[in-house]
Amino acid sequence: MKPMKYPPINPKFPHFLHGGDYNPDQWKHTPEVWDEDMRLMKLAHCNVMSVGIFSWASLEPEEGKFEFGWLDTIMDKLAENGIYAILATPSGARPAWLAAKYPEVLRVLPNRVRILFGGRHNHCYTSPVYREKTRLINQKLAERYKDHPALLAWHVSNEYGGECHCELCQQAFREWLKKKYDNDLDKLNRAWWTGFWSHTYTDWDQIQSPAPHGEGSIHGLNLDWKRFVTHQTIEFMKNEIAPLREITPNVPVTTNFMGTYTGLNYWKFAPELDVISWDNYPRWHGEEPDWELAYKVAFVHDINRSLKGGKPFMLMESTPSMTNWQPVAKLKRPGMHLLSSIQAVAHGSDTVQYFQWRKSRGCVEKFHGAVVDHCGHENTRVFRDVAEVGKVLEKLDPIIGTTVRPEVAIIYDWENRWAIDDAQGPRREKKDYLLTCQSHYRPFWENGVPVDVIDMDCDFSGYKLLVAPMLYMVRPGVAERIEKFVEEGGTFVTTYWSGIVDENDLCFLGGFPGPLRKVTGIWSEEIDALYDHDVNHVVLKDDNPLGLKGEYEARELCDLIHAETAEVLATYKSDFYAGRPALTVNSFGKGKAYYIAFRNNGDFLTDFYGALIRELNLKRAVDTELPQGVTAQMRTDGERVFVFILNFVPEERQVDLKDMRFKDMITGEDITGRISLPPYGVKILERL
Ligand SMILES: [Zn+2]
Repeated sequence: MKPMKYPPINPKFPHFLHGGDYNPDQWKHTPEVWDEDMRLMKLAHCNVMSVGIFSWASLEPEEGKFEFGWLDTIMDKLAENGIYAILATPSGARPAWLAAKYPEVLRVLPNRVRILFGGRHNHCYTSPVYREKTRLINQKLAERYKDHPALLAWHVSNEYGGECHCELCQQAFREWLKKKYDNDLDKLNRAWWTGFWSHTYTDWDQIQSPAPHGEGSIHGLNLDWKRFVTHQTIEFMKNEIAPLREITPNVPVTTNFMGTYTGLNYWKFAPELDVISWDNYPRWHGEEPDWELAYKVAFVHDINRSLKGGKPFMLMESTPSMTNWQPVAKLKRPGMHLLSSIQAVAHGSDTVQYFQWRKSRGCVEKFHGAVVDHCGHENTRVFRDVAEVGKVLEKLDPIIGTTVRPEVAIIYDWENRWAIDDAQGPRREKKDYLLTCQSHYRPFWENGVPVDVIDMDCDFSGYKLLVAPMLYMVRPGVAERIEKFVEEGGTFVTTYWSGIVDENDLCFLGGFPGPLRKVTGIWSEEIDALYDHDVNHVVLKDDNPLGLKGEYEARELCDLIHAETAEVLATYKSDFYAGRPALTVNSFGKGKAYYIAFRNNGDFLTDFYGALIRELNLKRAVDTELPQGVTAQMRTDGERVFVFILNFVPEERQVDLKDMRFKDMITGEDITGRISLPPYGVKILERL
């Protein structure tokens, strides 16, 4: 049984964490600013700061000469003021002396050019020198602060990402391949289908990572390279973590992820970390309505909660106002700061943290939103917004460690995305794997039905409904587990372009959807790609068991399928495949498997999943109709139930709670019946 309640991130502080990235080393020459920071942190109701993320040059100004004095002062000041430190390891950016003396630490780009010193996120993750230097400084930090009262957690490096193509990495890649393919080059050649274009390898040393001026056409190589980059980055991270675990075994370790960043498979990182954290920078008030962006952000929050099986995560970074690197850095409108912060909490975060505490005076992030602006005082709109979030979080102690056990899971799988992104055809434009998964998520968000977002290797038992849009790659054993899930009474939904390739990106032979053919009861003979201006329609059969009626548009992709054992629920209306099946259901054991052959990410999914939510009687956060743009999410410890009602439209919205009784956790009032949410308004309720 998975737990319903988890311990706090660090039991020594069983409260919501609120704070930001703090770079006091940028203000070493004006230490009076440090005292002012402490005063302002307390005024802003902040209780935690992420310290030292890019401090290597201040901590080790010369090779082997360590200077911790300034950090000692900061750690002491934090502790004296009741503020905790999430202490970072500094590998996210290196000092100039390190790059000058040891060029091997500098990353080599895909075009095989070695970078110069500069920027960040640019180290070779294989370099023995960089690993040794990182490990040493991490060990020094752990030894120095292991008993410091401010130390709450470790923030390892920063936003791992990117690739290195240096000779050290090439050699490590070949060794990784030898191990994977049992030292058998023929096995690798078969897995990569290298007979194509005469690309057969006859010596391991001929293998090179993908390059713009070299190999790019071997999809098996591309996939294995991405797997290797994930593996090697994790190896680098494990090397960083080792001294921390050894010296401070009770201090939790995290590293900050970047949402659905495609370069690394975060599922492989999760087991190595104590707590998941991520950096969230949505473009509110942009071209799409905020509520449409809101469900896409919610989807990513749910990935982060699912990464450790429901364990609360940390919102490590978010902006208190604008995000300077976006094309248009629009300010958060009144209400949005609290709303977007509580959205993270509603989906399982036990923290609200910012980049950054104080705006830096110079360089590329000098205009990025911060709690303390260049004016230097607390009399700003942003500061008041931040303090308000802090005050709200102080009232949410009972929510710490609680989770949600959804009855629905959507598969969003990194390796599947890599394979889809590499595929040429049926459409090279708008393959839209992520967007499609988020579109299948939307109806649940709109109905307040909690969802886990998992990868295909996760355990499916415990869910009533498993949704796998565009399950293009099916790794070994996955189809068997889906069959078992359905046989035992589960409902499975998949779509066009599923069951196409195996784990090496080799097409399944004998008819698509390959290993999913039995459970779906269909054969996909061809797939038609439509231009953006093309539209077909799908006509629902009378008296279909879902109760759907009329017609829906079919756009972009239309799978031409044969029902084998499946029942046809809808057919195409026009073109040469008029009358052919477009939606089917297959009874399999005690369960059912639906196949949606066409793309319609809008009204069809609303009605289809609306019908499934009713038929399967799926658990909702609150059993009532929600107006467009409003969602309800829940967290529970198994007994107490906390409900978050979030209004993502810039207008007032009403929600009818009927005769259900709640306590407003902010005002303490008892609430029942019809409630009103202001524009971008939030209610945090406990069910009575
Ligand atoms: Zn390298």
